[in-house]
Amino acid sequence: MNKKIMVTKSSLPKFSDYVETIEKLWETRWLTNNGEFHTELEKNLKEYLLSEEIELFINGHMALDLCIKALKIEGEVITTPFTFASTTHALVMNNIKPVFCDIREDNFCIDENKVEELITEKTTAILAVHVYGQVCNNDKLEKIAQKYNLKLLYDGAHAFGVKVGNRGITSYGDATMYSFHATKVFHTIEGGALAFNKNETLKSELQKLKNFGITGPESVLMPGTNGKMNEFSAAMGLCNLKILKEEIEKRQKVVFKYIELLSNIKGIRLIDYEKNKKKGIIDNYSYLPIIIDEKEAGFTRDELFSFLETKNIYPRKYFYPLITDFECYKNKFKEENLDVAKYISNRVMTLPLYADLQLDEVKYICDSIINLYNLKSQKNC
Ligand SMILES: *Cc1c(COP(=O)(O)O)cnc(C)c1O
Repeated sequence: MNKKIMVTKSSLPKFSDYVETIEKLWETRWLTNNGEFHTELEKNLKEYLLSEEIELFINGHMALDLCIKALKIEGEVITTPFTFASTTHALVMNNIKPVFCDIREDNFCIDENKVEELITEKTTAILAVHVYGQVCNNDKLEKIAQKYNLKLLYDGAHAFGVKVGNRGITSYGDATMYSFHATKVFHTIEGGALAFNKNETLKSELQKLKNFGITGPESVLMPGTNGKMNEFSAAMGLCNLKILKEEIEKRQKVVFKYIELLSNIKGIRLIDYEKNKKKGIIDNYSYLPIIIDEKEAGFTRDELFSFLETKNIYPRKYFYPLITDFECYKNKFKEENLDVAKYISNRVMTLPLYADLQLDEVKYICDSIINLYNLKSQKNC
């Protein structure tokens, strides 16, 4: 294929729909600070995410950062090393020590059975990540948090709209962060949100923190920052929310095509969507991670990665390196007992997945993978 196939491509609403929506801003001139679109988006997201409260932010990272501040989390936080840089940075930049817990082999989320042994007197919270939109064992995590009086936060950047039965995942723990970055399933160009159950204290702390601590024309109650979402982003969110159902359906078709073409290939493991379905999980098809077992496949993740590049296919080694191997974190925090996380991180890649990816492109990607198998087995004969 001459065309480059990138790992993702941002969705956009119809140009005319966005333009018609933002046209109003030329009349009102209300461009940010709790505008009309901002209010409407919060309302719509509460419904979509089945969340009692939604606070919008300029980006997902800021939402997480301010949530940590609002909940006065400090000391040590048990978290996962298998995530995007943002999760850990949010802790470290708040002078918190991340204590890394291993992950589960089946869904790549924090291993809830290994959390308790890491709790010390300094532990104040658990920060779990619904990696690739796969759902953590929320019930168990909630029990641990209650037993030890810890806060429970979720980085749900990948998990927009994921549900368990009729329950949104936002009802678990103290808060769930969502990222609305351009590359996510649902986006506002840049943006983010916190979803949480009714909690007036948290809500009012967050509102102060994201608006310089200002509570009135002559009243500044505390130091704060600028974490507000503007009206152009909120308008993008409103437009994208309208097409989301369709976008996720298209993603699902792409994922099912991948499964059809790759599931019987030895040495490659995909997310078990059937198992999710049995648990009542409604997926959002946000990423397509594959785990390559080099012994069975006859080639490594890195070999496949380089090979696909020669075919104009650009997956991502998402998440590699592991957070503990970042230059800035190496030898600083606990690195032992992370065998599963290390195993997965060294063998994972996410294949191209977006709503407009054509099924013949999926076929081309899978044929290319199979092509490497054939090349390798010819060599071995
Ligand atoms: C995208 C992402 C973030 C950060 O969100 P931004 O909106 O880009 O600030 C945090 N955590 C994870 C897991 C992400 O994928």
